[in-house]
Amino acid sequence: MRQRREQPVGFTQYLLQGETMDNVDADLLAAIYNGSHPEFFNAYLRGKKHKDLRFFVRIRVGALPQLDSPEEVALINFDPEGMDDGVWYLSHLKSEYSHHTASSSEDRRLFATRRYKIETVIAKNRHLFSTATISFEPLVAGERVLKFGLLPNLRVTRVTDEQGKDIYFIQESRKEDGSFYVVLPQAPPLGQERSLNVEYAGDKVLEEAGEGSFYVGARTSWYPNLNGFGERALYDLTFKVPKRYKVISVGQLKAESIEQDLAVSHWVTPNPVAVAGFNYGDYQRLDLPDEITGYKISGYYLEQLPNQFRRSPALQSMAPRSMTKYALEQTRAQLQICSMYFGKSPYDEIYITEQPNFNFGQSWPNLVYLPISAYTDSTQRWMLFGQIDSKFTGFVQEVTPHEVAHQWWGHAVGWASYHDQWLSEGFAEFSAGLYLQNAVGEKWRKDYIEFWERLQKRILEKNNFGVAPNDAGPLWMGLRLISPRTENAYQNVTYPKGAYVLQMLRSMMYDNDDQDKAFMAMMHDFVESHRDRAASTESFKAIAEKHITKRMDIAGNGRLDWFFDEWVYGTQVPKYHFEYQLTPDEGGKVKLHMTLAQSEVDEHFAMLVPVFADFGKGMARIGQLGIAGNSTRNVDLILPGQPKKVALNAYKDILER
Ligand SMILES: [Zn+2]
Repeated sequence: MRQRREQPVGFTQYLLQGETMDNVDADLLAAIYNGSHPEFFNAYLRGKKHKDLRFFVRIRVGALPQLDSPEEVALINFDPEGMDDGVWYLSHLKSEYSHHTASSSEDRRLFATRRYKIETVIAKNRHLFSTATISFEPLVAGERVLKFGLLPNLRVTRVTDEQGKDIYFIQESRKEDGSFYVVLPQAPPLGQERSLNVEYAGDKVLEEAGEGSFYVGARTSWYPNLNGFGERALYDLTFKVPKRYKVISVGQLKAESIEQDLAVSHWVTPNPVAVAGFNYGDYQRLDLPDEITGYKISGYYLEQLPNQFRRSPALQSMAPRSMTKYALEQTRAQLQICSMYFGKSPYDEIYITEQPNFNFGQSWPNLVYLPISAYTDSTQRWMLFGQIDSKFTGFVQEVTPHEVAHQWWGHAVGWASYHDQWLSEGFAEFSAGLYLQNAVGEKWRKDYIEFWERLQKRILEKNNFGVAPNDAGPLWMGLRLISPRTENAYQNVTYPKGAYVLQMLRSMMYDNDDQDKAFMAMMHDFVESHRDRAASTESFKAIAEKHITKRMDIAGNGRLDWFFDEWVYGTQVPKYHFEYQLTPDEGGKVKLHMTLAQSEVDEHFAMLVPVFADFGKGMARIGQLGIAGNSTRNVDLILPGQPKKVALNAYKDILER
């Protein structure tokens, strides 16, 4: 996902009042029905100073399922308006730490979903009527209550079993605990697949944005979803919509037809995927095959501008078809770059769909939402804003390659918990950098350096409270970096610092002869070894250690603890000072004397910093300097000739202050 500005929402509000909010009564019922239900303890504390503290111990499902928290124990101060709002404490059980079993990959599910078969009718008034058949398998003996994520505006009318017999369900009003639970008449036996039919209808999934264009609002909760992004299932999706419109969904388009006034399309995922989405509108289609990767690329664009831009003179000149062609060419280039660097993605097709939002993109298996801004050129953006906003230019440059890269990061390889989301967002962001380095032609140096400078600024720039996103906490904290004083810290650490961590590994693995060969081998291995399981920070570290180069083995134990402790589990960022002298040496060679100083770190902080020289063809790498602690090093090097310039970290590969 790539979002330009975040709507500030109180973090605990997002966590506790979202589509999967707890219905305490339903949770209690689950325990009453199953004598051996996994233990849990909820305490709601109404104090004088803190009026709504919540303490949870939940053994199987995790303390905060809304966060995919692997931890079991939480203390939350629910105070959305206050400055102390947030998750104060989140931890594994003491016994797990002492037995070294605490892990981000613990199975949190009570039931596993195998298959979703969903038929959705969208009426002319944008109301949605659906029937979903959900096939699942119990993972914990005796469980009778299933909890689903479903937009509270979608009201469930009926739940039945395989024989068509009615089954009880709980869905309080949308203003109360509007989450959706199903109560089975008996606990199904372990190891047996069962299924449920759910009928539901409502609005708020789609919002009209103008003639033939719609915002798809409930992006993951338009169907009853059992375990969110936490697992993969097969999807069989049928959509029936007014016949002038088209639905583009996930998987393969199996059939299309017109039935009376409805356009019918049938989509099937050949392999299990983590989530299903769709886009909807009066779309025109344009195809662009790619012979190199074998990918079938299709673009779906809107002929009409959404209402909010209809009066904008800047966008009057938008030519949807030719801009779509441009977006498809970007997609093709990025698919080639990602295939080369990361290996084959699990999909053969990609659908690039325009959506009326201006600053928001998202990626599904096979399906990409691009914001309308991705289809604008620099003249149009100039006319829109009256100036070149460099952050916005950056967003537009990055959004297509970022979203396309999510076919690998997030979909081919999932993430285990909130600790590990940087493996999706940071890696997608990194991949946008790869694109700028490899696909934009002559001006790549400028775009590429500006890209990393933008990321550096996002990580280190202080906000109105004087706090930089990087100061909010380590990358590994993910969403928990959000606090009233650091509202944008998740956005400005997970994405850019996540990208930087991967770029720094790449920089350290780079070799002048073999270039990115070692890095590519590591990334191919990472994708290959995680095809059917979610990646955690620790499982990625294990792959990186498998591919460690001699130079990176600073501790001499084949491990990268030093690097991960600094950059993933820590918050230090070094400052560098670099000076050099060039003196003629024998045979036309030149002696380079360098002085490198590292500061603002602790005594253990080690890094390999790349040095570059320009011999007339742009900055090229001549070596890496290792340095530890707050110290100064002098290094001499013999160069083959006189460089125009020597510079440390010329392409901003390493994060520095
Ligand atoms: Zn993203």
